[in-house]
Amino acid sequence: MSVRRLHGTAEADHDVILVGAGLVGAALALALAPLSLRIALVEAQPLERMEQPGYDERSTALSYASVRILESLGLWGMLADHASPIRHIHVSQQGGFGISRFDAREVGVDALGQVVPNHRLIEVLLDRLPQQPGLTLHVPARVTAVSQDGARMRVRLEGPEGPMDLSSRLLVAADGAESPVRALLGIGVTRRDYGQSAIIANVTPGLPHGGRAFERFTPEGPVALLPLGERCALVWTVPSRAQEWALELSEGRFLDQLEARFGRRLGRFQRVGRRQAYPLSLVRARRMVEGRAVLLGNAAHAIHPVAGLGFNLALREAAILAEVLAQGHDPGDRDVLERFEQRVQPYQDRLIAFSDRLPRLFGQRFPGFSHARSLGLLGLDLLPGAKTGFVLHAMGLDGAMPALARQTDPGARMETGP
Ligand SMILES: Cc1cc2nc3c(=O)[nH]c(=O)nc-3n(C[C@H](O)[C@H](O)[C@H](O)COP(=O)(O)OP(=O)(O)OC[C@H]3O[C@@H](n4cnc5c(N)ncnc54)[C@H](O)[C@@H]3O)c2cc1C
Repeated sequence: MSVRRLHGTAEADHDVILVGAGLVGAALALALAPLSLRIALVEAQPLERMEQPGYDERSTALSYASVRILESLGLWGMLADHASPIRHIHVSQQGGFGISRFDAREVGVDALGQVVPNHRLIEVLLDRLPQQPGLTLHVPARVTAVSQDGARMRVRLEGPEGPMDLSSRLLVAADGAESPVRALLGIGVTRRDYGQSAIIANVTPGLPHGGRAFERFTPEGPVALLPLGERCALVWTVPSRAQEWALELSEGRFLDQLEARFGRRLGRFQRVGRRQAYPLSLVRARRMVEGRAVLLGNAAHAIHPVAGLGFNLALREAAILAEVLAQGHDPGDRDVLERFEQRVQPYQDRLIAFSDRLPRLFGQRFPGFSHARSLGLLGLDLLPGAKTGFVLHAMGLDGAMPALARQTDPGARMETGP
């Protein structure tokens, strides 16, 4: 890999220009390594911006399938020591009787997923980039203009030392939920404001979490607690009007309020770290492909974090894109990109519908709804078919799997897609 300084406007030619070195862009760059492509990776922020490890670090729940993909990319060995396995999932609702429990052993695996600190995940991804031949990193540099000219995409970058022009056969935008490249390509979005915010913090439970991940639905929104070392990573969804209230409560009052919603399954909470709020909306691009350009990750779909699905969906799509590109000579060829869209669309539609409906379903206050939901949770717990279906979904093992996630016994055994 080489790091380019930006000066002059002589055009540099590549096979792929990849915009955004966040979790998704960096993962795609690594998944493309076996294809020997000339790749320009453009990132607006200096790479040293990564969060520092500490009590307040943010984390990501990786599905079983995502762990397999990271394993296939040769990255899991560097993450495993920092990961906390999810051995059980516990789903319940406040004020209702149904509970569903899912155990990794029931499907013959050690863990249904893993929770990793974000700073470690991005560090491992970025550390591997310099070893990739054919990759040029433009950082810090911001894409300011995009056009298509016959069989080439043309991109203008602005960096501290001036502008630079690049061209390529394929442009991939992994530049986040507000994706400037998506706007430059003229791709519109549908947007639904949930009127909710996710309050993120790490908490110390009074009792060991025992590898359990909890999803508890309350009338105001879901509360998720994930195992993270000795701590738990909290994602507490509150109505937007309660965001400031939740951020400003004293530590003791915050923990009391959390306990009032979550109960004492983990004893009395001992400590909460720095709280951060994320206003929640569903932002979905109207299409993923435009000419020789593809949207990936949050640029294509930023979804509700209710079940920790956003990065898992994006990593799966990055792996499928790498697989489809390996089958064609021209990475920006229309047939190649259509094949990609057809492969990812059905699963993406289902997953987004699931993440969109779940918090609204559990937020309904109509009489009788709570009882019906309780019966639903109970049914999920007692009906073996329904339970297996839910577990495969949570593990990311349903739908059309990318080859990078398939080299696994349980995955191969339980896979339902082509
Ligand atoms: C509260 C919360 C909890 C979550 N928990 C989970 C979870 O447990 N599991 C899970 O799977 N997902 C989870 N997600 C979703 C996950 O965080 C996202 O799916 C993921 O971060 C998307 O990454 P990305 O690379 O697409 O976008 P980003 O991380 O936003 O990266 C985009 C990059 O593009 C760069 N960029 C932007 N504009 C330009 C430009 N013009 N030129 C060059 N570079 C540019 C930016 O600097 C940035 O580095 C959660 C999300 C939230 C909000």
